[in-house]
Amino acid sequence: MDRLRKIKDKYEFIFNKIHDVIVLCNANFGIVESNRPAEVVFGYGMPVNGKKCYKVFRRRGSPCVDCPLQATYDTGKVVPIHFYDDKLEEYFEERTYPITEENRTLVGYIIVFRNITTNIEIGNKSALTKKLIALGQISSGVAHDFNNVLTGVLGRIQLLKRTVTDQEVLRHLDMIEKSALDGASKVARIQEFARMPKSRDFQSVNLKNLVTDVIEMTRPKWKEQSDHKGIVIEPIVEIKEDIYVLGDSSDLRNAFTNIIFNAVDAMPEGGIIEIWAEVMNNITRVYFRDTGIGMSDEVKEKIFDPFFTTKGVKGTGLGMSEVYGIIRSHNGKIEVQSKVGRGTTIIISLPSARRIDREIVAKKEEIKFFPLNIMAIDDEEYILEVIRDILIDMGHQVTTFSNVKEALEVFRSESYDIVLTDLGMPEISGFEVAKTVKSIDRETPVILLTGWNIEERDDRKVASYVDYVLRKPFSMDNLCSIINESAKKVMRRIREKGEKKANNNSDTDNFSPV
Ligand code: ADP
Ligand code: MG
Repeated sequence: MDRLRKIKDKYEFIFNKIHDVIVLCNANFGIVESNRPAEVVFGYGMPVNGKKCYKVFRRRGSPCVDCPLQATYDTGKVVPIHFYDDKLEEYFEERTYPITEENRTLVGYIIVFRNITTNIEIGNKSALTKKLIALGQISSGVAHDFNNVLTGVLGRIQLLKRTVTDQEVLRHLDMIEKSALDGASKVARIQEFARMPKSRDFQSVNLKNLVTDVIEMTRPKWKEQSDHKGIVIEPIVEIKEDIYVLGDSSDLRNAFTNIIFNAVDAMPEGGIIEIWAEVMNNITRVYFRDTGIGMSDEVKEKIFDPFFTTKGVKGTGLGMSEVYGIIRSHNGKIEVQSKVGRGTTIIISLPSARRIDREIVAKKEEIKFFPLNIMAIDDEEYILEVIRDILIDMGHQVTTFSNVKEALEVFRSESYDIVLTDLGMPEISGFEVAKTVKSIDRETPVILLTGWNIEERDDRKVASYVDYVLRKPFSMDNLCSIINESAKKVMRRIREKGEKKANNNSDTDNFSPV
């Protein structure tokens, strides 16, 4: 007897300890046995025995039309069904097992409910991730092709502008050029969306202009939407004119936009967004303070987690993780101060930069170099033609190759001062070209042309084999100034060789191989 009792206790313990809800029903849908979780979850703490299953589990007045019992009874297979309980706000998987007598008369059934909310959420998120990755791949391919097309268009326009004198034609050309440049910045935005890491060409960015742009760009969110809801959100920017940070302006615009969006979301009854900055020891700290609902410590801890959101379906939970990524890639820091009901302050620290006068940088160098012998490689013929025409216009000699293998063969036997190569080509990539060129002659400057964003993992390849990276679409001025920089290297090399020769001639005793 004692043994039997022990066995009963043991099974009862398991029955109640398991997290799944388990009930035993009779053939009339009446619950005759239930475990503890059944009472806790569906009985809201009260016993469920003696009640009808459809009443307890679905809050219905009659047996469910989708009751899987019949199908299970007919086929002998258990087909789980899924349902969402809108009162509990949870997803459940329900399995029904028939209990039959030897002559197959149904005497009752066992139902097991399992909470699958977490699995569903993970599934949704990984589907979203997959979608984002796929979208990223498609858009980065499109962006690359557009950059090539725009290189062709811009190059031609800029070449034309050098020869045309008719003011009316020039005006039209200016307009076409501007449209093409706008196209280029749209493509850059697609690349941003695809969140492809950018080549890190950080510049000196004026903070006040940057923040003012962001406030303008987010106006529909803080102004129009608020007007619509009858609330007032007022951004106040107090930043001195002469503060500059080192960074990528479009990345930073993106980060600041996310912060402003969150601040607006946090102020459903309106409020103030104050933005100010201070500079200390070459670090610029930018403050974004809102007077919104604030955050609990738990939320504050998770705010940078991808997909963490407290906004339900309205949020993606990607904003702050993106901000984090951007600020980190800028060698910056991000802090969050927040109190529930009191508002939030996000503090971004970035390396300060010196003011750079764009006019001077953009001014074309007038230095004249002697004609250089340049090798240009790209799988797109029309890009090669634009490059050739620009370089010839500069007074250089150019040999173009659309076949990479052939180009490398030729490079082994003939000498070129500079090699200009596309990055993404079939069979052999621009990195391979650069590596081969450097293995044959370490000193030949290599310029890498690319319509892709160079990924961070390729940074080392760039550092080892590439002298300059030129992003497509490039302007004629970009190409000219990079060619001029390379030309300086070539000249320096020739001069050094000359000096070595002269030294060696005067000091033959001390001869050492170069
Ligand atoms: P999303 O805005 O899509 O929810 P984010 O990554 O931008 O995703 O933000 C994550 C969460 O951090 C938000 O859901 C919110 O709970 C919290 N949060 C971010 N910024 C603020 C803020 N300024 N005030 C209050 N809560 C914020
Ligand atoms: Mg957000």
